Amino acid sequence: MTTDFAATKTVFHLPEGVVYLDGNSLGPMVKTAPARVARAVEAEWGELLITGWNKAGWMDQPARVGDRIAKLIGAAPGTVVMGDTLSIKVYQALASALEMNPKRRVILSDTGNFPSDLYIAEGLVRTLGGQYRLKTVAPEEIMSHIDDTVAVTLITEVDYRTGRKHDMADITKRAHEMGALTVWDLAHSAGAFPVDLAGTKADFAVGCTYKYLNSGPGGPAFIYVAPRHHEVARPALSGWLGHEAPFAFDLDYRPGSGVERMRVGTPPVLQLAALEAALDVWDQVSLTDLRAQSLRLQDQFIKGVESRTTGLTLATPRSHMMRGSQVSFRHPEGYAIMQNLIAEGVIGDFRAPDILRFGFTPLFIDEDDVARAVNILAKIMEYGTWDKPQFKKRAKVT
Ligand SMILES: *Cc1c(COP(=O)(O)O)cnc(C)c1O
Repeated sequence: MTTDFAATKTVFHLPEGVVYLDGNSLGPMVKTAPARVARAVEAEWGELLITGWNKAGWMDQPARVGDRIAKLIGAAPGTVVMGDTLSIKVYQALASALEMNPKRRVILSDTGNFPSDLYIAEGLVRTLGGQYRLKTVAPEEIMSHIDDTVAVTLITEVDYRTGRKHDMADITKRAHEMGALTVWDLAHSAGAFPVDLAGTKADFAVGCTYKYLNSGPGGPAFIYVAPRHHEVARPALSGWLGHEAPFAFDLDYRPGSGVERMRVGTPPVLQLAALEAALDVWDQVSLTDLRAQSLRLQDQFIKGVESRTTGLTLATPRSHMMRGSQVSFRHPEGYAIMQNLIAEGVIGDFRAPDILRFGFTPLFIDEDDVARAVNILAKIMEYGTWDKPQFKKRAKVT
C-alpha cells in the first residue's frame, strides 16, 4: 500500500490559515467525529438508555478499540485494552510488573521521562512502604544502569522535550538479560511511527490516544500486556470491570482473563466514539510510509530553520534512528517566540525551560505547511517581533 497523504489530509478539520505542528500534544479533529459522537449521544444514549451497554456494544468497546490500536503498535489482537488516562495506566502496568519481580527493588527511569510517569512511580513507591526506589538517570545512560537490582524499567520511548527516541529492542533485550521487566510508555510513539511490541518482546506498554491518535481532549489511554503475562499480571487497581464476572457482584476480586483484567471502571463511551471515528483513517495508512514522510518533513524543517535563522539550537538528535516525530529547538526566549508563532498561525508548543516543540504528523501536515512555518519563524527571528510583553505573559497551559 502506498499512502496518499493528500487524501488523509482531507480527513481532518483544521481551522483556516493554521499550520498545526502540535498534533503530538493534541491531535486535530477528524471531520467524521462530530457525527459519530452525536450518534453515540442521540441514537445510543438518547434512545437506548441503559440497554446501550448491550445493544450498542459499549461494554465490549474497550477491547474492540484496543484491537484496532494493537495493529498500530505491533501487538496481537486481545492484548490491548482501553480506559482511564495514561497516568492511571502507568500505575496499573508498573504495579503489576513490580509484583511480578518480587526480589528486586529498583524502578529505573530517565530524567527525560514525562513528569507524570515519575510522579506516579514515586506515589507507588510510597504506597509500597518505601522499600522500593525510583532511580532516574540521563536518557543516554539507561543501558548501563540496567543491572541485577532493577525490577522494572519505566521508559517513555520518545522524550517529550527533545524528541530523542530510545532503542526499544535493545533496552528490552538488555532488561530481560538482567532479569528486569519493561514498561514502555508509547505516548509519543503510537500513531507516530511503527512500533513492534511483540517483536521486541516488551512486557507492558501504555499510551494515550489524544496525541497522534486524535481522539480529542480527554481521550482514554491504552494498556498492553504481553500474552505470556496475561494470567500472571495482577492489577493493583482491581476494579469491577477487570473482574472475571462483573455482574456476578461477588464480594471477592477475581481477575478477568487476558488483558481485560487491566480495565478498572466504566469506560468513557462518548470519548471512545470520537476515537473510533479517528481510527478509521489508519485503514489507508502504511506506518512505514508515515515514518518516511515524517522524517522528510522533519529534515525539511530542520534544514530550513538552521539555514534561515540564528539563535535557535537543535535539541533533537540528528540521527533518524534516534528521533520520534517531533523536532525541538532551544532558545532562552522560547516561550515568547512560540507565542509569536501561534499569533501568526503556526501552532507548536513550549516546554520549560527553553524548548520550542514542533510535531510532524504527515496525515495532515505537508511540505507546503512546513515551508510556511519556516518562513514565518525566519521572519519572527529576523525582526525580533517576539520581544513584546504580550508574548511573554505565561498562560496556564504552555
Ligand atoms: C502526554 C503524556 C502523559 C499524560 O498523561 P495523562 O494521564 O493522559 O494526562 C503521560 N505520560 C507521557 C509520557 C506523556 O507524553
